[in-house]
Amino acid sequence: MKNIIQDLTKEELGEVIKPSFRAKQIYNWIYHKYADSFEEMKNLPKEMREKLDEAYTLTPLKTVMVQNSKDGSRKYLFELHDKHTVEAVLLLMREKEYHEDGSVKHQERYTVCISSQVGCKVGCAFCLTAKGGFMRNLTAGEIVEQVRMIKKDNAIDANRRVNIVFMGMGEPLDNLTEVAKAVKIFADPEGMAIATHRQTISTSGLSTKIEKLGKMELGVNLAISLHAVDDELRQQLMPINKAYNIESIITAVKNFPVNDRKRVMFEYLVIKDVNDDISAAKKLLSLLDGIKAKVNLIYFNPYGGTEFKRPSEKEMKAFQEYLTKRGLHCTIRESKGLDISAACGQLREQESVRPEA
Ligand code: SAH
Ligand code: SF4
Repeated sequence: MKNIIQDLTKEELGEVIKPSFRAKQIYNWIYHKYADSFEEMKNLPKEMREKLDEAYTLTPLKTVMVQNSKDGSRKYLFELHDKHTVEAVLLLMREKEYHEDGSVKHQERYTVCISSQVGCKVGCAFCLTAKGGFMRNLTAGEIVEQVRMIKKDNAIDANRRVNIVFMGMGEPLDNLTEVAKAVKIFADPEGMAIATHRQTISTSGLSTKIEKLGKMELGVNLAISLHAVDDELRQQLMPINKAYNIESIITAVKNFPVNDRKRVMFEYLVIKDVNDDISAAKKLLSLLDGIKAKVNLIYFNPYGGTEFKRPSEKEMKAFQEYLTKRGLHCTIRESKGLDISAACGQLREQESVRPEA
């Protein structure tokens, strides 16, 4: 298997390809012109193109399936070189923008939800990804390529702004080295130029890794999958809570560098009769006291074989209202792509194309 050229930062590329201005040209071909072969890179000398082709691949992922949702989102199933598969989703979001005079306009924004691992080790009770177990980490290039493929397939102009959320398959902080590298490659101004404040890393709460991510000063947004406010329940839902309890997460968050205009997002998956009681909302409020936080309530998305249930709209609204009335920013996440299982926690490796063990 050849090396993946998308695994390289521009600086690393500049070290292997001399003179280093060639790295910029190659980046331009890959991330602006969406080249799929070195042959196309006509402003590079022929010998260079041949050498690159011998050493590197530009197409580490193969699209095996695309599903369109009624709401405009599209789910992609990508096959990796070792035949494992991962999913990524293109979401269309309406985002608020402010004019200079302070008036508000709404704008359609692309958000790409990407995977960081094949499967996941964390094993949350409510999550479909967890059911398939853990296979392997993705490399930075395999992470970056999900976005490049989706931008190319949808003819999204290289300069058009997109947001990235690490909310697909896997626990990003369990693959921190490659995820942090992908963040930097995404942000390269001569590559995709996706500013780090447009990238969000969602974690089940690996406190020590949250601290480590903070120290890297990448400028990414942090999202914590909290889902329960007391350790006993959280442990049942998320076994990782045994190693990293709620208090350790809150401490790590308090030490995390947050962009002036941003807040740490706490995701709270609402499961009927499990964690939807108003007493939980009350506890959540005190837990987040003193943190620049916003809460995102997520409807539990049911799937075949789960005993958990989706709460009603009324229950959701009541939970939200309790928090907002007391000054906490709290939104209810629209479940995008429900009809194609592209919504949260519904991404998993496809059994049918999984390689033989
Ligand atoms: N592993 C990371 C990144 C995946 S994000 C994390 O857990 O944060 C996926 C989000 O969807 C998480 O907040 C996760 O808790 C949530 N989720 C998992 N299963 C779900 C389900 N069945 N319905 C709705 N959300 C779910
Ligand atoms: Fe892994 Fe996140 Fe699913 Fe938990 S919710 S099993 S951490 S992907």
